[in-house]
Amino acid sequence: MAPPIPPNCSACGAPLPAGTDRCARCGALHGDHRRCAGCGAKAEVIRKGGLIFVCAACGRPRVPAEQPFPRSGREREALAKADADLKSSVMATALGIVAFVVAAAALGTASLAFLLGFGFLALLAFVATFLFAGAGAFGLVTARGARGRADEQMRDAFGSVAVDVMRVRGAISPPQLAEVLGVPEEVADQALARLPARTDVRVDTVLDERAVDGQVRYRVADATLPAAAVDEAADFEARLQASIRAKGQQ
Ligand SMILES: [Zn+2]
Ligand SMILES: [Zn+2]
Repeated sequence: MAPPIPPNCSACGAPLPAGTDRCARCGALHGDHRRCAGCGAKAEVIRKGGLIFVCAACGRPRVPAEQPFPRSGREREALAKADADLKSSVMATALGIVAFVVAAAALGTASLAFLLGFGFLALLAFVATFLFAGAGAFGLVTARGARGRADEQMRDAFGSVAVDVMRVRGAISPPQLAEVLGVPEEVADQALARLPARTDVRVDTVLDERAVDGQVRYRVADATLPAAAVDEAADFEARLQASIRAKGQQ
């Protein structure tokens, strides 16, 4: 099956370099693996610090892929949570800044009132200064917390995509995952390191002496499940599909 990448750029007509779907002249992307699940555009993914990667077209969190591989879409829930956390973070930052601006204005009012001898007004304005400065600090701390949670969700999202890669590639090392996703090695490293602790999928590590790089590799351990457990899962899937069909006929 040939990958659905045309020989020439669909935007500017320049011939596409072999082995990539990115136009060397105008930067247009052609591979279907570049498509954002949020907005449907074939767009670049931009890193926003930490593990936060977002779609260049719509700004929603995304896990990038430099090479095509079958995606389960299992990362979507974590991405949706990361999106909500990022929005809370932006909102809390904005409110925090507004509160600080109001606090500064209140401080100015308080100083002026004090100089002009309006003692009671000065006192009120001072109290307002402290309240708004406190609200501002609270806003920024809240924003930081939300961003930290978004980062955690992104780690899970990367982990789910890493499992998709393992299902087709077998055991992979952090540098290999980094290459498939087109991300720095430390990102792949962070995503993989947490996988063995997850309960929804069994991932174990292997150290292959024959591999020259000496890297720890991660692989899906599903193959080691007893046959009965696999049958049970297939049975569950069959019953699920049957119940969905039954619902559709009602
Ligand atoms: Zn082009
Ligand atoms: Zn998008």
